Amino acid sequence: MVHMVLPTPDNLGIVFYPEPVLRKQCVRVEAFDDALQAFTARMFELMHEADGIGLAAPQVGVPISLFVCNITGEPGVDDLVCVNPTFKALEGTADLEEGCLSLPEIGVTMRRATRALMAAQDVHGDPFEATGIDLMARVWQHEADHLVGKLIIDKMSDKDELANQRAIRTLEDQYKGNRGI
Ligand code: ZN
Repeated sequence: MVHMVLPTPDNLGIVFYPEPVLRKQCVRVEAFDDALQAFTARMFELMHEADGIGLAAPQVGVPISLFVCNITGEPGVDDLVCVNPTFKALEGTADLEEGCLSLPEIGVTMRRATRALMAAQDVHGDPFEATGIDLMARVWQHEADHLVGKLIIDKMSDKDELANQRAIRTLEDQYKGNRGI
């Protein structure tokens, strides 16, 4: 069993494609301690600061199976922590353009289930099941993809590929620049 030591919350920030952590298979969370609570609190802060509605742990550099979301953007009210999530049912499909906090300036039309039944644990480790419809279901599926290293740019239509290629290239160049290569 892998126990991931969480970084100090103040040191966390959103990482951008092509940071390798975004491609990792995330490990299960086993320790539901104060450090995990501080970690998720900081994730909510970062998500709200960036005007996002979902954020997965690898997006702040930590490859553990956890995401936070809030589809209304109202801090504290609709905040939801999902630890070790799995889908028990996915039904219906709809296409909609999605963005990603780790892929600024990029939009990709994604086909997602419109109804999702998810089993997960809360920040204390208590199991729960929840049903998400439409945007909620979409966010859960987007974030769950992050937990297995998948990104919205992985399967783009020709149209999206053309529209996004410049922004993707810019991110790749910035990453190389940051690394001094
Ligand atoms: Zn994302």
